[in-house]
Amino acid sequence: MKYIFVTGGVVSSLGKGLAAASIGTLLEHRGLSVNLQKFDPYLNVDPGTMSPYQHGEVYVLDDGAETDLDLGHYERFTHCKLSQLNSLSSGQIFESVIQKERAGNYLGATVQFIPHVTDEIKSRLHQATERTPETDVIITEIGGTVGDIEGHLFLEALRQFALDVGPENVCFIHVTLLPMVKAAGEIKTKPTQQSVAKLREIGIQPDIIICRTEHDLDDDNRRKIAMFCNVRKENVVAFRDVKHTIYECPLDLRKDKIDRLVVDALGLESASPDLSRWQGFVDRLVHPSKSTSIAVVGKYIELNDAYKSIYESLTIAGAEHDTAIEVVKVDAEDIEKEGAETVIGKVNGILVPGGFGERGTEGKILAAKYAREKKIPYFGICLGMQIATIEFARNVCGLAGANSTEFQKNTPHPVISLQEEQQGVTDMGASMRLGSCESILYPGTKSYELYQRTNTIHERHRHRWEFNPAYRKQLENCGLIIAAVSKKEGLVEIIEFPDHPFFIAAQFHPEFKSKPNNPHPIFSGFVKASLEFP
Ligand code: GLN
Repeated sequence: MKYIFVTGGVVSSLGKGLAAASIGTLLEHRGLSVNLQKFDPYLNVDPGTMSPYQHGEVYVLDDGAETDLDLGHYERFTHCKLSQLNSLSSGQIFESVIQKERAGNYLGATVQFIPHVTDEIKSRLHQATERTPETDVIITEIGGTVGDIEGHLFLEALRQFALDVGPENVCFIHVTLLPMVKAAGEIKTKPTQQSVAKLREIGIQPDIIICRTEHDLDDDNRRKIAMFCNVRKENVVAFRDVKHTIYECPLDLRKDKIDRLVVDALGLESASPDLSRWQGFVDRLVHPSKSTSIAVVGKYIELNDAYKSIYESLTIAGAEHDTAIEVVKVDAEDIEKEGAETVIGKVNGILVPGGFGERGTEGKILAAKYAREKKIPYFGICLGMQIATIEFARNVCGLAGANSTEFQKNTPHPVISLQEEQQGVTDMGASMRLGSCESILYPGTKSYELYQRTNTIHERHRHRWEFNPAYRKQLENCGLIIAAVSKKEGLVEIIEFPDHPFFIAAQFHPEFKSKPNNPHPIFSGFVKASLEFP
């Protein structure tokens, strides 16, 4: 097994995750098997309890791990198999060290940052490696910026790890920023030099430096960075701002042959990559012949990262239909103030994503009502499905005041209620219904057709409330179609509305299962329906 460690310097938000994912893509295209993981230095055990404003989207894995959105990039850019082990935080490390100390596992030793905490980090690296022994290369991205106090122990652990497994098996890649000082008209390399110096202080010499830049990286600057940072000139790689889509990133990094540099550094045999299929996907994204506008009606709408996988899934489905997606980001509270017609009167499709808490829910209910009445394609995800159920109950079945007990405890018609196993749950961390579960699809439904007439599907979940089974018969009698239920508990998983070109809402999160050239079937059907909307 070979190891790539991706660190970041100068500033955050450099696209380290995309760089790591892109290297994964390129190595896979060279015929190598890759796995990716992220180390986050924060003290939360996982991002599940963090607000989207703090953290952006929580990306859920098959095994129910609540992880950083970079793992979404890893899954979309490669075929890696991710689990809880691929997402590590300082919180998990310290929790485990303290538990071991309380259990007496350290046999009377004074428990210290080095070696006990660093050993714990190294052992997690080994565990991830052991889980997928067929992997050729494991790529580990370290969150944060070199020089941060909280990231120091991770870097120290990596330094030790490289010694343990042999430096010939490890490639350190450092991602930095090359700012342009406009007044001088010059690209500046000093921040990169200083951040590499910081890394070397810890005892890590990067093998490759990836320089984020808005401009091209000329020979002089490459030479300068190479000399001051103690790497070969060829190992200074430009990572330019991509023009249209993040899926151009692997193609951009390939210009400086980063994949060859990596395999050379690691002594791996592999063929040159054939990127024609990936290039074809990018071409379809960049030059679509059609376009459609989709309203995403949410609560954290000003924050791009909060609905990352949804936007990516729409883009990917758009490419399949040769269609540019114009996402209209709508704050649900604006619909409450101005009415649906004013805010979303011109779109070809309405998507209500997942969410928590009452704020904005009445606006989302108005959006679902508008979609139902005007026969605009509607796609509800998790909360978006619960919203659609409430709307149908209130306005089609005449259940006045129907609601979810999440928003109104004493609603006269709790059509969405707390799942039985959730009653009495007090700890908020990792306690929702999480991860993949099997559901049965019913023939004769639109969803059944979209999933190519499969009877069984596996989709990922993250929720506490559910469609209240006590109301199932009553809503079905009003025409509501239940298209899928979970195999084990019989929980409602997909609803559809009758007499509507496309009204599908799922309790699960299909946005976590779209990949380039392989869009999720509901996303694909939704985009197609939006194109057909007059
Ligand atoms: N708040 C709702 C629940 O917990 C929906 C969750 C979601 O949309 N992810 O059931």
